[in-house]
Amino acid sequence: MSQVIGVYEASVTHPPAVKALDRVSLSLARGEFLGILGPSGSGKSTLLHLMGTLAAPTSGRVVIEGQDVAELSDRQLSALRGRRLGFVFQHFHLTDGLTAVENVATGLLYAGVPRKYRARRAGEALARVGLAHRAGHLPGQLSGGERQRVATARAIVHEPALVLADEPTGALDTANGEAVLALLSELNAAGTTIALITHDRDIADRLPRRVRLRDGRFVADTATTGSPS
Ligand code: ADP
Repeated sequence: MSQVIGVYEASVTHPPAVKALDRVSLSLARGEFLGILGPSGSGKSTLLHLMGTLAAPTSGRVVIEGQDVAELSDRQLSALRGRRLGFVFQHFHLTDGLTAVENVATGLLYAGVPRKYRARRAGEALARVGLAHRAGHLPGQLSGGERQRVATARAIVHEPALVLADEPTGALDTANGEAVLALLSELNAAGTTIALITHDRDIADRLPRRVRLRDGRFVADTATTGSPS
């Protein structure tokens, strides 16, 4: 299997003429843990959306596991997203009326996993994030840190090639933020490729590779071979 997960060589212009990304060039290898840094408005979310195929480049290309996503139909794009990508958001985005395990199982809805296997797979993912004992709890009965762990289990339950995390520690206190980072690091050590936006310098400093954006351009890319600095 190819060692390259994604190639992103792209510009994104928002109407009427905001250059959110200006000829960025990034290649992400399997197993990397990439930090995306930069001030507000520098293009971080746009880059993550591009990597998640939620936004298309205005010019350039996005290639995921050898497939140029511009060549895919909407249906094929949804399948790629549902099977190969996982998303973690700052504010968790859990469904209030569903238990933890039911929330995790929603991560399998578009992954082609038959219904009869979903509950078991979701339970296993919850166990991986250390929350098997909270499987029947509703989001409102969980702490912020626990909610983010549930959201992380949902992001990995279908064993995606790449997890995209948009400030996953941004809504948490330091201790819970550390716990979520430790979880992501564990998942990365076990083989999951991760790209993460963070404003937290302490967290950024510990990531093996960091790209820094300013005004839609990369101003730094500390590409290393992968061992944490
Ligand atoms: P960051 O995530 O670093 O805060 P963004 O990627 O959200 O940056 O935004 C980059 C630039 O693109 C900013 O100038 C922002 O105002 C602009 N932008 C983002 N989304 C849109 C949009 N949907 N329409 C117009 N401009 C946008």
